[in-house]
Amino acid sequence: MSSDTENGLAGCPKSNDSQAYDAGTADSPSAQPQLAFETRAVHAGYNPYEHNGSVSIPIYQSAAFAMHDAVRGDGLSSGEIEGFSYSRCANPTVDALERRLADLEGGVSAVALASGMAAVSFALLCAAEGGGRLIAPKDLYGASVDAMESFFPQFGIHTDFVEDINDIAEVESKITPDTRAVFAESVANPSTNITDIKALADMLHRHGVALIVDNTVPTPYLFRPIEFGADVVVHSTTKGISGHGDALGGVVVDSGNFDWTNGRFPQFTQKELVVSDERKGIWKSFAEAYGNAAFAGRVRIKYLHNLGAVMSPTNAYLQLIGLETLPQRFRRETDTALEIARHLETVPHVTQVNYSGLDSSADKPLADRYFPHGIGPVLSFRLEGDESHINRVVNAVRVFSYVPNIGDTHSLIVNPARITHREVPGDYRRAAGVDDHLLRLSIGLEKPSDLIADLDRVIAGAY
Ligand code: PLP
Repeated sequence: MSSDTENGLAGCPKSNDSQAYDAGTADSPSAQPQLAFETRAVHAGYNPYEHNGSVSIPIYQSAAFAMHDAVRGDGLSSGEIEGFSYSRCANPTVDALERRLADLEGGVSAVALASGMAAVSFALLCAAEGGGRLIAPKDLYGASVDAMESFFPQFGIHTDFVEDINDIAEVESKITPDTRAVFAESVANPSTNITDIKALADMLHRHGVALIVDNTVPTPYLFRPIEFGADVVVHSTTKGISGHGDALGGVVVDSGNFDWTNGRFPQFTQKELVVSDERKGIWKSFAEAYGNAAFAGRVRIKYLHNLGAVMSPTNAYLQLIGLETLPQRFRRETDTALEIARHLETVPHVTQVNYSGLDSSADKPLADRYFPHGIGPVLSFRLEGDESHINRVVNAVRVFSYVPNIGDTHSLIVNPARITHREVPGDYRRAAGVDDHLLRLSIGLEKPSDLIADLDRVIAGAY
């Protein structure tokens, strides 16, 4: 590669917001933002006429792209010309997924990554880098807790954990001059507790603190946090977005609404060579170079570019295919999850069912307010007895698969205390309701009666 690559710019487009590439034509539904979610899940962010008319998005399985001539190579590297040259920073198949997800979440730009944890980590580090602090609840996905509780402190980034993310006064009391962002899951995994995004965002914005939301469990079909004030949305696209359990992935979506120049975030206002033109003596910050897409720009140009964690073109293709049926899958899976949650409330030996869509749930008012079409396919429940009963259940299932994943078309069961939340300290696990009595389900597309029969059989057989 050319020396521009060593400089760190080749292949890194300035943004993937819809204006940058002007993908739409009169014939392309990708240019019509007023279309329904179902339609945009199939068409947004992609124009077949720019790809030889290919209706299925091509897999651009190429590490690098010919830059044509020195002038274009220089323009691509400086960001003055939009285009592709090196797939670590941008690839046309991955770009289509990024545009589609930015569109569906209502953001201005998105960066796809190799996994959900890359998306969580890059977003949190990008907000808090340089000694900043984060605030988060304890009932997060296990690896997110581990990252913030024991790993990020090694890089000088500390998190103030709160017992209840919806206790706005408690969250506000933790804000210090170093606080950069609050991180929460829209629907927590596995408790299904719901975050009151609007109340949180309104308070945080009075302090110039950003709200980063992990929207993995409901997906943008059921909930779009940016509409309620979230500044950045992250996903494990491995889950409902992909939907078939066939590819890992993650995405960071920039709302474009947050002012990263408000004084709390020096990383966005300092001049940096990677977005400047030293030879011409033009020096820029990320805020100057990327405008309201500065967060996505920094995730791409600093984090993706320097730390890797690239989504492969083939995985982007698989996720685009899965995304096309997200509304249909999630409607069905969410309906079945509610049916199963209601049924479990009547099953002997079940002592508690966690599903915020249930009338008995303390979070039902929040579910009604934010999730008119349901909270998604994940639920959890507690069994009486001890860990041996949990083990007998996971050992005996036939329709459910014993798998540490969610959002698949296959229904999945797992014991979080030993698997997905194993690395979480005991008091955090208890705050998340995770102990040796808990099982998590992720409901797929099987017939509900077969799923219910499988659960009834294994629960009865465990005692
Ligand atoms: N966020 C949530 C809510 C998750 O459930 C998961 C994984 O289960 C992740 C992030 C991490 O995603 P990945 O496994 O794709 O790295």
